[in-house]
Amino acid sequence: MIDAHLHLDQYSDIEEEIKKWQEAGIAAVVAVSTDLRSSYRTLELKQKFPDFIYAAIGFHPEQPLPSSLEWEEWLRLLQIERPHLSAIGEVGLPYYSAEAVLRFSDYRDFFEQIVRTAAAASLPLAIHAVYDKASTALHILQKNKIKKAHFHWLKAEPAIIERIVACGYFISITPEVCYRTRDQKLLSRVPIKQLLLETDGPWPFDGPFADVPTSPLLLHHSLKAVASFYHQDIKATANTITANTKRLYGSLHHC
Ligand SMILES: [Zn+2]
Repeated sequence: MIDAHLHLDQYSDIEEEIKKWQEAGIAAVVAVSTDLRSSYRTLELKQKFPDFIYAAIGFHPEQPLPSSLEWEEWLRLLQIERPHLSAIGEVGLPYYSAEAVLRFSDYRDFFEQIVRTAAAASLPLAIHAVYDKASTALHILQKNKIKKAHFHWLKAEPAIIERIVACGYFISITPEVCYRTRDQKLLSRVPIKQLLLETDGPWPFDGPFADVPTSPLLLHHSLKAVASFYHQDIKATANTITANTKRLYGSLHHC
């Protein structure tokens, strides 16, 4: 299994953790970044664990926008490190941060700029855009003829989900699929060929995972829920989802 969206730079004892995850059958993680510093950190980790990490660099939309100096430095980093990168992310549009939402048009312009940058670099996008913001993000992706994108931890109206699916983009679900109706409904609207699994770790979960630190190990629980939803055996479901992740993020052998 591959965790399709994880904040690896926010874990401690990373070497120990990765060893544990690998022993439990986790083949790789897509490590996303939240700002310039986090992008550097993700690249450092990529250098250390090249066969385990799909590296993504970006600016999380629920935080202050980067300064123009940070943006320029990040662009240089992208250029230099392009061979080691699998995606641009985590990027998108704010929904939860009231401060960011107040300046929504600036965030929208910045997102469009980063979408164009990803297109120019031929990299897929790992996107955070929920509810009505998912619709705005979708519009920007379409306008810029983006082929490869991943809406992570999507929450949206059925009509928006349908449009994302029709555009051929990928959607990931979290361990919430094991205990939350909203996420089970989302699963029912995503064709298995466009489905990815993620934990967004170390973000904590509720329900049966309330006392469990979030790690890619939770993917096994999500996988069981997905396999039983599709009436498929676990191995076949795991193979399909792993193949989806590789179709989007590529193979680790070349980066
Ligand atoms: Zn995230």
